Amino acid sequence: MQTIFEHMQQMEHEQIVFCHDPHSGLNAIIAIHNTTLGPALGGTRVWNYNSHEDAIIDALRLSRGMTYKNAISGLNIGGGKAVIIADPSMKSEALWRRYGKFVNSLNGKYITAEDVNTNTSDMEYISLETKFVTGVPEYAGGSGDPSPFTAYGVFMGMKASAKKAYGNDSLVGKKVMVQGAGHVGQYLIGHLVNEGAKVMVSDIDNAKIRQVVDKYRNVEVVDNKGIFELDMDIYAPCALGATLNDDSISKLKCAIVAGAANNQLADENVHGPMLVERNILYAPDFLINAGGVINVSAELEGYNEGKVKSAVEKIYDRTLDIFALSAKENIHTQAAAMKIAQKRISDIAQVKSRM
Ligand code: NAD
Repeated sequence: MQTIFEHMQQMEHEQIVFCHDPHSGLNAIIAIHNTTLGPALGGTRVWNYNSHEDAIIDALRLSRGMTYKNAISGLNIGGGKAVIIADPSMKSEALWRRYGKFVNSLNGKYITAEDVNTNTSDMEYISLETKFVTGVPEYAGGSGDPSPFTAYGVFMGMKASAKKAYGNDSLVGKKVMVQGAGHVGQYLIGHLVNEGAKVMVSDIDNAKIRQVVDKYRNVEVVDNKGIFELDMDIYAPCALGATLNDDSISKLKCAIVAGAANNQLADENVHGPMLVERNILYAPDFLINAGGVINVSAELEGYNEGKVKSAVEKIYDRTLDIFALSAKENIHTQAAAMKIAQKRISDIAQVKSRM
């Protein structure tokens, strides 16, 4: 088993911070991957991890993804992410305010936002203890929930993928399987229904399924266990990561994978090429799910919703550019996206070293 420092060395992290507070029950890990482009910005996830090691690995993988996401999106921010090891029902004002104090102690090197199991009210509590938080509610001076922008960017990336795969970006009549009907999944379903796609949805939480069914009559609910055997055109992972693995890819019969979840490829070096072999077009997750961070990072420089919307729409062209690079250099699409992100970081590092 690798040590934490070996993991950090392998994934090229700058820093990990552990935060513990017995009174509020807070056990948090803040992972700062790369600050070449600016302070590390990334959300805080609350999850009941099976082990501390699982939590550390998740924080390391998620923060690395943020570095690539922020770089490829042209943002002047670095990559970081935090995880809190807890059952989401344990969330409290005290936990968030204590966590806010920890974030504040990093003096702006890490700026937080929402992720799985966190929302604008949680960010509001954090904002009582630190200014290094984004995604706070509109009434408290923030830009609110980033999920609609994430979903819009995923929709743009999915349409670009359809253009590449089918020669036309219309999703009318396309069977799209949305796994995870949470914040992003539900907004994405809205776009797909409006477009005229045939939407299937799965979630482990029946309450989320009920919300979707109440809102959209024509959405088909499918059992989460058998989703990879289903006949579909597009698979949209919008739950947790690593759903693209040996088992799922060998079963998948779709033409496109385009979704919101972070770290969809269990192992990018194995499963990126495996999707190519199966002739499945993969829209890199960190490229197309950047709408949320594009939105929250705009709070740092004076929020303008119109500007954010047009920045998110650029995901369409960026996705086509990555597909073109992937074809030209005969590399899988995730590798092509990483190459562009890494080049921007090393170019800016050069610029900074000469100042
Ligand atoms: P969320 O917690 O609101 O929704 C996730 C949903 O997935 C929940 O309804 C949950 O019940 C469901 N789920 C969990 N495990 C599942 C499984 N095995 N099968 C089916 N459903 C399952 O989170 P969200 O904010 O909608 O984010 C979804 C994904 O998108 C996450 O991976 C997140 O990191 C990523 N993401 C979110 C944003 C954002 O703006 N919220 C931005 C970028 C990336």
